[in-house]
Amino acid sequence: MKKAFVLLAAVVALGTTYFLGHSDGRAGKSPGFTRVAFAADSPPKVSPVDARPREVYYPNSENLAADEMRVIACGTGMPTTRAAQAAACFLVELGNGDKFIFDIGSGSAERLSSLQIPYDYLDKIFIGHLHADHFGSLAEIFIGGALMGRQRPLRIWGPSGPVPELGTAYAVEKMEEMYTWDLAGRVGIVDFRGYSIEVNEFDYTAENAVIYEDNGVTIRSFPAIHSLDGPVSFSLEWNGLKFVFGSDTYPNKWFVDYAKDADIAIHECFVAVPDLVTKMRFTPEQALLVGTQIHTAPEAFGKVMQQIQPRMAVAYHFFKDFDTTAQVNARIRSTYGGPLSLAEDFMVWNITKDDIRVRMAVVEEATWAPPLAGAAQAPGGDADRKQFSKDAGVSFEALTYSDFVIEGRWGEVDDVLRGVYGEASEALGREFPYPERE
Ligand SMILES: [Zn+2]
Ligand SMILES: [Zn+2]
Repeated sequence: MKKAFVLLAAVVALGTTYFLGHSDGRAGKSPGFTRVAFAADSPPKVSPVDARPREVYYPNSENLAADEMRVIACGTGMPTTRAAQAAACFLVELGNGDKFIFDIGSGSAERLSSLQIPYDYLDKIFIGHLHADHFGSLAEIFIGGALMGRQRPLRIWGPSGPVPELGTAYAVEKMEEMYTWDLAGRVGIVDFRGYSIEVNEFDYTAENAVIYEDNGVTIRSFPAIHSLDGPVSFSLEWNGLKFVFGSDTYPNKWFVDYAKDADIAIHECFVAVPDLVTKMRFTPEQALLVGTQIHTAPEAFGKVMQQIQPRMAVAYHFFKDFDTTAQVNARIRSTYGGPLSLAEDFMVWNITKDDIRVRMAVVEEATWAPPLAGAAQAPGGDADRKQFSKDAGVSFEALTYSDFVIEGRWGEVDDVLRGVYGEASEALGREFPYPERE
């Protein structure tokens, strides 16, 4: 057992060197042992008690330089959910303080929460297309994010569709409607400022059109080819650095044109066709169609990157396992020799004009709410309920318990709950009146 672990660790370590070790721009160089690792002639002095620096990123432990961009993978997987990988989500943090989320796929809200970033800073989401694995965590960051301290509306940018029903505004409106009971049950009881959404729907056919411009940041959209009309890809430019995110797409001319000279180019790279058959249990016909025509096969990903020559190519949208990664890598390497990251959740890229540093984040799983960015506000009570009643078209009277339910309360806990109020009043030195029943 122990031997197996050591062997696995060695494979993982080698893999890391191989896949991540090109950040110095050694394009296409095959993996090799480094001088440092085998400098037997001058063994390093290792203290038995002193700390050593670690090549990992601990969230909130490093300042971001004024000219630096940090990208964190918060989802790199597939529509078929798994604990090891959430679905598409990439967080971009800039040295000017701005943060942007690109896609918010199923499971990614947990990854974002692990970064412990105040939710007021996570208020801008760009959705490339409306597959669940690219926006399936929207409700969680909408409602959970507000509960964890977002004090402003969530802002969403997403494409139109060939008809209104296939556009982002429709999807978000219906999602809010789906959560009518959830929102009705919270209004009046919590600080409700974060429980609204602003949608900016833009034309999916626009080619390299500016859809966001503020504080020195320009975000553009260009069409992608995937499943139906509607999907888009994005570029973000700031301070001479260019980030490109493909969302999902078959290789297309727009990406080849508009991703050119990217400092970091993230493009889907689907599970290799043989693995779609053996592991995803697709029929060969379905595997070929989905794996090469709806998505981008690894070989095709490589050709796209060979054409655009980014400073760092990032492949995502495959299950990155010990027995699938080698095949994806070999297929990419059959067509592309440049810097490459095979993404997995919590991979981190620190990007400046001189350097791209690739590491893994070490995060906490048992997280609570991060610090608030602004002062909390007391629950709005009936004033908020009145507004909600008007906006959602739900009768004001329905926004409280009925007499029928009130009558069902078990009175025997009254004394202990009064005790909790008394305890708080005593501990905090001010009176918290117990909510008396009508
Ligand atoms: Zn998709
Ligand atoms: Zn997808």
